[in-house]
Amino acid sequence: MSNSHPKINLLDFSHEALKDYFVKHGEKPFRATQVIKWLHQCCVDDIAQMTNLSQALRASLQQHAEIRAPEVIMEQQSTDGTCKWLLRLADGNAIEMVFIPEDDRGTLCVSSQAGCALDCTFCSTARQGFNRNLSVAEMIGQLWIAKRTLQKDPKGTRIVSNVVMMGMGEPLLNFDNLVSALRLMLDDHAYGLSRRRVTVSTSGVLPALDRLADTLDVSLAVSLHAPDDELRDKLVPLNRKYPIRELLKTCQRFLDKKETLRKHITWEYVMLEGINDSDKQARQLAKLLRGIPSKINLIPFNPFPDTSYKRSSNNRIHRFRDILLESGYTVVIRKTRGDDIDAACGQLAGKVNDRSRREIHFARIEKQQ
Ligand code: SAH
Repeated sequence: MSNSHPKINLLDFSHEALKDYFVKHGEKPFRATQVIKWLHQCCVDDIAQMTNLSQALRASLQQHAEIRAPEVIMEQQSTDGTCKWLLRLADGNAIEMVFIPEDDRGTLCVSSQAGCALDCTFCSTARQGFNRNLSVAEMIGQLWIAKRTLQKDPKGTRIVSNVVMMGMGEPLLNFDNLVSALRLMLDDHAYGLSRRRVTVSTSGVLPALDRLADTLDVSLAVSLHAPDDELRDKLVPLNRKYPIRELLKTCQRFLDKKETLRKHITWEYVMLEGINDSDKQARQLAKLLRGIPSKINLIPFNPFPDTSYKRSSNNRIHRFRDILLESGYTVVIRKTRGDDIDAACGQLAGKVNDRSRREIHFARIEKQQ
């Protein structure tokens, strides 16, 4: 192994890529499996702890490689057990991730990009614009940090059983890194999560959705939010490029793949008062999705500063749900969690709007420490 390059980050490697790396450097491929286990099952942050590797291999790895996850700069616990982390990337960008414990599972909401380019009008991440794609290490590093933190918790029975790619960013616009990170989540030597418990959420980047269907078996959530193109064009501007009819066709193809365990699409529908929450729109939605195996997830809108949208009333949300139920759909109203720490959906930009304000925010945090 030559010494002239900057250190590689072991968290950037899928299992396959690490095998290739070891073989290229004259090692046996099973070394990759050992290292993957140390990294993602034991969550070690030090190559010296990988005690089943020979001294020589450890020394060589220490020379050429490191284990570098994003840096945790703030951790907040909500009264309902929801946990939010603010993470700083090597270049100063900030991302957030959220852990939501429930009776029978623990869900980690993972970010795929710093900022987002899609500009959905009801989402606070859109306000900060797009900075860049996250690397594999920055995505899988979120799960790595959450697992390490929960493992250390003395009264810890909480584990990450589910991952939803519903944090900041549009995962399908960061395709290759997303796929490598997902492979690690599913790999039995790494996180070993079930395919049903790993969900990619998308606004509908259709060519990438077709590619995903051909590449990997995971669950799919689609951010629909409107029953017709006219309204969806406004709420989710990506719709102007990939309209609803095409979206539905692509989703059907996704379900039709032969080797898949995928049984349905989860449709996300944010409830915005007076915008998309009428009885008529519920009936339109029911008609639109007819024939596609569907679960509908109604998300009470989470307000953030300077938004003109309002959350639909509980009565309205229930009425909307009942119309869908009567049409035979499975419908869930998402509980809002972590409200007291701005950890709810679409709030992950928190109080940081742009780069400069974010830096001010960091400066303040550092002073407090
Ligand atoms: N870009 C992807 C994933 C990130 S958004 C996507 O669009 O699916 C995750 C989910 O949170 C999406 O369904 C999104 O529409 C929803 N969301 C965004 N802002 C919200 C808000 N203020 N209140 C409620 N849900 C919101």
